[in-house]
Amino acid sequence: MDLRSRPEDEAFRLEVRGFLRQHWSDDDRRHNPPPRPTWLLAPVNRRDAAAVRLRTEAIARGYLYRHVPQRYGGGGAPWDPAKEAIIAEEFERAEAPAELIGNGPNVLVPTLLECGTEEQKQRFIRHVLLGTEYWCQGYSEPEAGSDLAALRTRAVLEDGAWTVTGHKIWTSMADVSDWMFALVRTEPAAPRHKGLSYLLIDMTAPGISVRPLVQMNGEHEFSEVFLDNVRVPLANMVGPRGAGWAVSMSALKHERQFAGATLVHPRMLDGVVALARASRRRGRPAIEDPVIRDRLVALQARMYANSYHAYRLTTMGRRAEEPGVAGMVAKLYGSTLAYELAKLAMDIVADGGMLWAECAPAGGIAPNSYMQAFGVLAGGGTANIQRNVIAERGLGLPRRPTR
Ligand SMILES: Cc1cc2nc3c(=O)[nH]c(=O)nc-3n(C[C@H](O)[C@H](O)[C@H](O)COP(=O)(O)OP(=O)(O)OC[C@H]3O[C@@H](n4cnc5c(N)ncnc54)[C@H](O)[C@@H]3O)c2cc1C
Repeated sequence: MDLRSRPEDEAFRLEVRGFLRQHWSDDDRRHNPPPRPTWLLAPVNRRDAAAVRLRTEAIARGYLYRHVPQRYGGGGAPWDPAKEAIIAEEFERAEAPAELIGNGPNVLVPTLLECGTEEQKQRFIRHVLLGTEYWCQGYSEPEAGSDLAALRTRAVLEDGAWTVTGHKIWTSMADVSDWMFALVRTEPAAPRHKGLSYLLIDMTAPGISVRPLVQMNGEHEFSEVFLDNVRVPLANMVGPRGAGWAVSMSALKHERQFAGATLVHPRMLDGVVALARASRRRGRPAIEDPVIRDRLVALQARMYANSYHAYRLTTMGRRAEEPGVAGMVAKLYGSTLAYELAKLAMDIVADGGMLWAECAPAGGIAPNSYMQAFGVLAGGGTANIQRNVIAERGLGLPRRPTR
């Protein structure tokens, strides 16, 4: 990726800045403050009316979602890494809501672009990009996590529609989602991986119930989803019948790349540095402690490596190149880095890490991040599974011995 500045880049920067001045006023900023993060790793996803309005204008100008064709609601602009970097910098500078991060924009949209019908692309993508429809991912089940192909949620074709019955678990944001993309078993007699189909399920359909699961930090980010004879139109199947595994693998590939690239934003390191400045260790500011400084610098180097790796993956994606091992390492690297950052935050606040919420240093951001980081290691495929994938599929090492 070539990020050197060209003469026309400064003019483009002024253009974006002017656009933001016109469409994102000081009033907008003041009256629509982003929610205060409760953990270091949370992406700030704004979906309020002002954010949707700005996103609509910015897409029309070709500033956001440039990789998505205009006919599906994207910016539809030619790939230009320098322009994309300028847009990101200017939106951040203006504290303006930019592209959303999550299952919809990062997993479903690339999957639909790759495998969806024209009708599905027209119907769904635009709302995902604006944030007017929110999506969750229904893959995992109580007996099918790492071994996803063991899933048992059943779909039967009756009168031109699927009837779905089963039980999904760990479904992030299910309680606030409008739709779920899910993997279900449609061909029970076929070999495990060939018996699945990929469905788009309306979360308001009769027969769906959602039960939030409370995590160790008291929040309930994910839920169990029960499906009891839920009717799903045939037109909501992505890819051919029985080909759901291949479709989901394309989605998982996107998820793992996005997890690595976007989970660890440079601001998270800034957060840990701020914590080190504000905390005391052996009577002195923690930022002056040589061990803390050493760990901060080591993590900063890994942050840079992660950012440049994300640029590399973007470049490969836009050139339609298969990322191979480079894509496989992104989730493992990003999630272990997120964990190390949270662990350092805990070590900085030391005994303060045992306190909670308003009683704790920095509102408990360190213990909350630390507890969340374990989930990041497991979500989208555990770290051990990632290691197996890299070893066996990426590097061609022999499969692990089975008893
Ligand atoms: C924060 C979070 C968000 C999530 N969001 C979603 C979501 O939105 N949608 C969704 O469908 N799912 C979601 N999940 C579920 C996630 O995909 C599963 O938790 C994950 O795939 C592991 O499955 P499991 O929990 O059943 O653990 P298991 O598969 O039972 O694994 C238990 C342990 O055994 C190890 N293990 C298992 N098999 C092997 C092997 N072959 N080799 C080496 N080690 C192995 C694992 O690494 C792990 O340490 C989420 C999970 C978390 C934590």
